[in-house]
Amino acid sequence: AHILDTLPPLVSDSLLAIIALVNADPNPDKIDVGVGVYRDGQGRTPIPASLKKAEKRLWEEQQTKAYLGGYGDVRFTAAIRPVALGRHADDARIGGVQTPGGCGALALAFKLIAAARPEARVLIGTPTWPNHQPIVAGSGLRIVEYPFYDRDGTRIRFEEMVAALKSGERGDVALLHGCCHNPTGADLDDEQWSEVAQIVAERGLLPVVDLAYQGLGRGFEEDAAGLHKVLDSSEEAIVAYSCDKNFGVYRDRVGALFVKTGVEAATKHAMTHVLQIAREQWSMPPDHGAAAARIVLEDPLLKAEWLEEVAAMRDRINSIRARIAAADPRLAFVAEQYGMFSMLPLSKDQVVRLRDKSIYMADSGRFNVVGMSNGQVDRFIAAVIEAMD
Ligand code: PMP
Repeated sequence: AHILDTLPPLVSDSLLAIIALVNADPNPDKIDVGVGVYRDGQGRTPIPASLKKAEKRLWEEQQTKAYLGGYGDVRFTAAIRPVALGRHADDARIGGVQTPGGCGALALAFKLIAAARPEARVLIGTPTWPNHQPIVAGSGLRIVEYPFYDRDGTRIRFEEMVAALKSGERGDVALLHGCCHNPTGADLDDEQWSEVAQIVAERGLLPVVDLAYQGLGRGFEEDAAGLHKVLDSSEEAIVAYSCDKNFGVYRDRVGALFVKTGVEAATKHAMTHVLQIAREQWSMPPDHGAAAARIVLEDPLLKAEWLEEVAAMRDRINSIRARIAAADPRLAFVAEQYGMFSMLPLSKDQVVRLRDKSIYMADSGRFNVVGMSNGQVDRFIAAVIEAMD
């Protein structure tokens, strides 16, 4: 036998299986609401015009691609900082580093926590983005799951969330979705965020806020409001930020990690560990996407154009949500949720039967609200209602 033959089989990612089904379907009007990228009314995943202009400028002006160092593009991190952190942007107790996307930021965050406190448990509400558990498990930290969302009742199980957070011990970690919860679309309201922020601080939990869709829910400030409350009340906190959706740079892997501690010196020390871990993992983050995003953020005209482009994405998401919600009272919940995903209360059988009509979503009923083109919305709604009846 060969050495690598001993690798155990893995259960394949069901979303990859759906992508294969979509690709194999010859129907030109097939509806792919499985995949997790933004699509416009014509079904394309465009590169924002502001970013395209910045890339052109980058190509013209960049003189070298020599190594940048583990921090990546420090001007990028400085420029995204006020967008993400708002009134906390000037807090010297918050350190930042560029990362390969939100995944890189999360991986760094949990490895950092594991280096400080290997016995920490990570409290995760389910369902969650299916890469959360593997990333946390990869750090060696223990996962404690609690039920976050009642899919068939289409509501957040807030009492259970509160109870789970209250059961946390000092030094445990609370992983929180900043906005546009993936896969449920169910975001905490202001009051719930206040309560969560308070419990996390009182219990001495370390909050890790995953902010991967800022601007795509209610607006930039609104989408970070929960994070800002957490930063108000917790002396220590970590933010895993992704620019991949709001800049449309998915494959370029653009993100940042922000680490807050109680005093500036402790933050400086923590950042030396962050850099050491980054060095082991990827040495330094990929430059291109972050450099282009930095050009956008530093140029007032490009930035204004970008904010408008994100607003257009957000408006498309929310207008399709409104159309779906208006079609049937059982779908009304879709308009109260945010971001690209919601979960339909369909059985796996019903989801599979939709595939006979060339409509593809995850077995869980999670669908990408903007996976369909404008011309496909009515057919999607009719098929979903028929499946529910
Ligand atoms: N967190 C959540 C909740 C996500 O949905 C995603 C992307 N699907 C990420 C983090 C990671 O994003 P990135 O592609 O930037 O690594």
